[in-house]
Amino acid sequence: MIWLMLKNPAYCGKAAYRKTQVVERLRPTKLARDNGFYPKKPKSSTRDRDPKDWIIIAVPQIVSEEDFEKAKAQLQENKKLSPRNNKRYEYLLSGLLRCKECGYSIYGKPASNSKYKRLYYRCMGQDGHRWSTGRVCSSHPVRVEVLDELVWQQVQTLIEQPEIVVKEYTRRMDAKKKKTQIMKHFLARRKRNPHARAAKGKIA
Ligand SMILES: [Zn+2]
Repeated sequence: MIWLMLKNPAYCGKAAYRKTQVVERLRPTKLARDNGFYPKKPKSSTRDRDPKDWIIIAVPQIVSEEDFEKAKAQLQENKKLSPRNNKRYEYLLSGLLRCKECGYSIYGKPASNSKYKRLYYRCMGQDGHRWSTGRVCSSHPVRVEVLDELVWQQVQTLIEQPEIVVKEYTRRMDAKKKKTQIMKHFLARRKRNPHARAAKGKIA
């Protein structure tokens, strides 16, 4: 909320309209891909317009222009320092893995108090500052070299034995087909008897 306020020029006396526009989604969301669901409207995504196309209207000023510019500069600085914009270290698996224990995503971070400057992968659940009740996961960070090597070994196995990929692909396609069939069956029954209650466990 504060972040949105700091970005909104209305707080320093300039309300802007037409700041965003609806556009077609560039890539389907993961949810859409997995479930074969697509939005009803073709333009389901919102994007910022160029600030020169905004319509600026003068409104009572809450924050001085100077403070507003200072806040904007600080936000830009934060953006530079944010782990997601890290360009200094290579975390090949960052954003690709989830923690087995807590399910939160895994990201890379250098050890804060080590003179060896070691790099680690850790899950969001291990970060006490993210949660009001402190850390929510008891797992430990893993050295980047160790995990990268482990995953690379698996990737090599897949490259050398493509039949594993084919097998997994076939398994997923079969599961998808089965789900579609169950859904078709359910809809046909609904059509015949609209008041019938859905059988438990039939629709995943
Ligand atoms: Zn975890």
